This record gives sequence, structure tokens and C-alpha cells, in this order.
Amino acid sequence: MEKLTIAIDGFSSCGKSTIAKALASELGYNYVDTGAMYRAVTLYCIKQGWILDHNIDKEKLVKYLSKIHIKFKFNSETKLSETYLNDQNVEREIRSMEISDHVSKVSAIKEVRHKLVKLQQEMGKDKGVVMDGRDIGTVVFPDADLKLFMTADIDIRVYRRYDELTSKGEKVTFNEVKENLSKRDFDDTNRKDNPLRKAEDAIVLDNSDLNKQQQLDFVVKIIKDYHLLNPGE
Ligand code: C5P
Repeated sequence: MEKLTIAIDGFSSCGKSTIAKALASELGYNYVDTGAMYRAVTLYCIKQGWILDHNIDKEKLVKYLSKIHIKFKFNSETKLSETYLNDQNVEREIRSMEISDHVSKVSAIKEVRHKLVKLQQEMGKDKGVVMDGRDIGTVVFPDADLKLFMTADIDIRVYRRYDELTSKGEKVTFNEVKENLSKRDFDDTNRKDNPLRKAEDAIVLDNSDLNKQQQLDFVVKIIKDYHLLNPGE
């Protein structure tokens, strides 16, 4: 069976990575978390001292962009793919609230997007990939075989993210998480380059009331239907 390219876009914390990982494992595909790549660039900027009072030293970032190397490596113990920044495992560090607070500013920089989009296209060039982010179906793989646009009620998204952060010991309040998600959604939707929007041919998946298995069943059925609709593929 020909391998597919599956693009999953949507708002912050609506469970894109959960369904993308489950789908990749079900199909034996690679999973690429593009948000992790923007988060890794943000971590690099913080470590270099290029983000002060919510302002980014864009000139420095653009000048040294070629020094930033991002890779994913599969951890055979956890069975998960982990993010490496210049050969250091940063999987845990990039998930913090501090990174979430700055990532949308970093991801709005044209040169950063250009570099990461190219890398993502390279990572998915052999197909058999599930990639999630904000511009996968619109910019990275506009010809993807299947495009999903995920959304969920804002309070449900906030609860999920709040649970995830506090279970890792991070001290945050519900309102801080809500403010961060709303601001990121606003910034990601309104930026000039590659804003978050639903591709015209994307299928909307609102998972406010769906558990992981129900979402997976929904997507697998679409894939089966897709093959039925395209006999021979
Ligand atoms: O998916 P995640 O919430 O980890 O993404 C973090 C941030 O990275 C988003 O809020 C957005 O600013 C940026 N991003 C992006 N384009 C993508 C993936 C993520 O701009 N394809």
C-alpha cells in the first residue's frame, strides 16, 4: 500500500500530538512534532540571553540561525521520539511554560520559519509520515494525502494542558495556562508568515467530547474510506 503524508494542524493543546502519535504507531509511520522544533529554537534563544522582557534579539537569532541544529531521536525505552538541540536531549525542557510564553514570537520570524519548513519537508519527503503543527497542510505539505484540522473547547484544552504541566511539577495556575493558550492562538492565527488556518481541504476534528480511541477510530475510518475512494492505491 502506498504510504501517505498526513498533516495535522490546529489550535494549541487540542491533542494534536496525542492523536498524531497514536496514528503513527498504528500505521508504522514516522511522527514529526513541528511545535517541538519551534520550541527548541526558543530554548536556544533563552540560553543565549536573546530574549529579555519579552523582546527577542532578532538580528542575533537570524545571524546565528545556522548554528541551531534540531533532530529527533527514537528512545527505544519510552518508545517515543525525543527532541535534540545541538545534540542535547531537550525534550523535557522545551515543554515548560517559559518556552510556551515566548515561542509564538520566535515562530513568527520569517527566517526561522523558512529554515524549519525546509527541514520538515526534508523529514517528510519519503512519505509515511504524520506531522503536526500549524501550517503543515497549508505550507509544509499542501499536497498531503490527508489533512486534519483539530479544535476543542478552550476550557477543555486549558484543563488538559494544566494537568500535563502540574503533573510534571510545574507551578502554574489555570488562568495562566488559559492566558497563554489564548494568546498563542491569537498570535499564531494573526502572524504575517504562514499563519494558522484551516486548509480548504482539511477535515475538521473537534475532540471536545471524544476520547483518544474515538479520535483514532474517526481518522482510521477516513483513511480506509480514502483507499476505498482511490482503488489501486
Ligand atoms: O504544537 P506546540 O504547541 O508545541 O507549538 C508551539 C508553538 O510553535 C505554537 O504556538 C506556534 O507558535 C509554533 N508553531 C508554528 N508552526 C508549526 C508548529 C508550531 O508556528 N508548524
